Amino acid sequence: MRETVLALLFVLSALVAAWVAGVAWRRRSTTTATGILAVLASAIALWCLSGGLMAVSGDTGAPLVLWVLLFVGICVVPPGFLLLSWALTDRGWRPSRRTVLLLTVEPVITVGAVATDPWLHGFLAPGAAPLDPAGITPISLAHVAYSYLLLAAAAARIMYSWVRGPHHQRMLYGLTLLAALPPTIGNVLNVTGVVRDVDLSPLGFCVTLTVTYWLFVRRSLYELVPVARQDVFEMINDMVVTLDGSARILDLNPAADRLVRRLMPDLPARLTGLPMNEVLCDVDLSEGTHTDRIYADYKGSGVDLNVRVSTLGDGRGGHVGWAVVARDITALNRQRVELEAANARLRDQLHTIEALRADLAEQAVRDTLTGLYNRRHLVECMLRETERAGREGSPLSLALLDIDHFKQINDRYGHLAGDQVLVRLAELLAAEFRRDEVVTRHGGEEFVILFPGVSGEQALARTEALRGRVEAESVRAGEHVLSITLSAGVSSYVSGMSCDDLLSAADRALYAAKRAGRNRVEPARGPGPSGVAA
Ligand code: GH3
Ligand code: MG
Ligand code: MG
Repeated sequence: MRETVLALLFVLSALVAAWVAGVAWRRRSTTTATGILAVLASAIALWCLSGGLMAVSGDTGAPLVLWVLLFVGICVVPPGFLLLSWALTDRGWRPSRRTVLLLTVEPVITVGAVATDPWLHGFLAPGAAPLDPAGITPISLAHVAYSYLLLAAAAARIMYSWVRGPHHQRMLYGLTLLAALPPTIGNVLNVTGVVRDVDLSPLGFCVTLTVTYWLFVRRSLYELVPVARQDVFEMINDMVVTLDGSARILDLNPAADRLVRRLMPDLPARLTGLPMNEVLCDVDLSEGTHTDRIYADYKGSGVDLNVRVSTLGDGRGGHVGWAVVARDITALNRQRVELEAANARLRDQLHTIEALRADLAEQAVRDTLTGLYNRRHLVECMLRETERAGREGSPLSLALLDIDHFKQINDRYGHLAGDQVLVRLAELLAAEFRRDEVVTRHGGEEFVILFPGVSGEQALARTEALRGRVEAESVRAGEHVLSITLSAGVSSYVSGMSCDDLLSAADRALYAAKRAGRNRVEPARGPGPSGVAA
C-alpha cells in the first residue's frame, strides 16, 4: 500500500515536472533561465518517474536501467539549479560551452559508476543495500558532497541577490528561496531517518520547479516592466525630474543631471532635495495639471528648452508632486529658423522670377522706341475682339494711321528727329484713347488703333479729331519745331470678317486717303463686308 501511494505520488510529480518542462521548452527563447528550467524539469521528471517505478518494484529488485535513469535525473539537478540561479540573478548571462562541459563531468562519472556498479562496485560497496551508509564508496561520497556543494552555491547566489539585489526583484528571489525548502526538507527527512528507504527530494524539487516556473513565466512580466521602465528612464535623452509636493527634486535621470550641470556648472554634487526653481524652472500648481512651455535661450545659455510639467496625484485626488520632462530643442529650433529663412529666400526669388517673367512678357509685346504695344499684341487683341464681336454682335472698329511724307522728315532733319516725331505722336495717341482701346505701333511710321465696342462712325469721328489735333500740334525734334500731318483709314467689323480682312479694309481706306491728298481720314468702302456704315 505504502509503495503504491509513493509510486502514484512520484508519477504525479513526474507528470507535473514533464508539463513544466514542455511549457518552459516552448518558451526557451524568451530567457536563458527558461531554457535551463526546461532541462532541469526534464531531469526531475526522469528522477520522479524512475523513483516511482522503483518504489513499486522495491529498491533491491529494481532493474539496472531504472537505477541509471534515476541517477541521470539526480545528477542533472544540482548543476541545473546552479545554472538556474545564475540565469535568475543575472538576466543577461548565458552559460558558456565550457561551463556546461565542466558541469557534465561529474554526472557522467557518477552515472557511469552506477551503470557498472553490479560488476565494478564503484558506487556501492559490495553487498550493501542502496541508501545504506555502510555502502558508501569514494565515488558516491564525492557525488553527495558535490551535489550539496552546487545546491548550496545556487542557494547562496539567490540569497545574495535577495539581500542585495534591486528592491523590486527581492520578492522574486525570496520566493525562489522559499520554494527550495521542500526538497531540503525531503532530503533531511531521509538523511535523519524519519522517512526510511525512500528519498522524497524529487517531490520537493517538483514543488520548487513549479513555483520557480510560476515566478518566471507569470511574475517576470510584472518584474520586467518596472525594470524596463527604469532602464528607459536612465537611457532616454529627455530630462525627467520628479518633484515632491514642495517642488523639491526627488529623483532625476542622467540626462537631466547632465543638462542642469551644463546650464549651471556651480550646482552642488547632490541635486536631490534642491528646490526645482533653483535648478531648472518654477512649477506652479495654479497653472493646471499639465503645462508645456518653450524657453528660448534659457537664462542666456543659448539653449532652447521645451519643459513639460505634470502634477502627480496619489490616486485619491491628492497632489503629491510633479513630473518635469524637459527637452533640448536648440538644434530643432535652429533647423526651423534656417528652414524659415530658406523659405523666405525662396519666396523672394520666386517674386523676382515672377517680376522678371512679367517684365519679359511685357517687353515681348512692347515697341522699344515708343513704348506702345507692338504688332504681336495687336494680333492677340484683334483675335480676341473679333471673336467677341462675332459672338456678341458688338461693334468693333480699327483705324490705321500713317504719317504723311515721313521720309522727308528723316531726310531733312535726320533719323533721330524722325524718331522723336514717332515718340511724340505715340504720346499723343496714348493720352487720347481709352484703356480698353488698343494703341499699337504697327511698324515704321504706321500706327493702329483698335476700338472695341465702338461703331465705324464713332471711330471715324475720333480719328478725325485726332488728325486735327496732330495737325495743330507743333512737334519738337531736337532744335527744330515741326508740323506733321497724318492720314488714316478706318474699317469696322462685319460678321464673318477675319482680322486680316479688318486690317486690309483699313489699309485700303488709308491708301485712298493718301491718294486723295493726305492729311485726311477715310472710311473703308467698296467690295466686301469691310466698309464703314455711312
Ligand atoms: P507717305 O506720305 O506716302 O506715307 O510717305 P512717307 O515718306 O511717309 O512714306 P514712306 O513709306 O516712303 O517712308 C516711310 C519712312 O519711314 C521710310 C523709313 O526710313 C522711315 N522709317 C521707318 N521706321 C522708322 C523709324 O523707326 N525711325 C525713323 N526715323 N524713320 C523710320
Ligand atoms: Mg508708311
Ligand atoms: Mg507715311
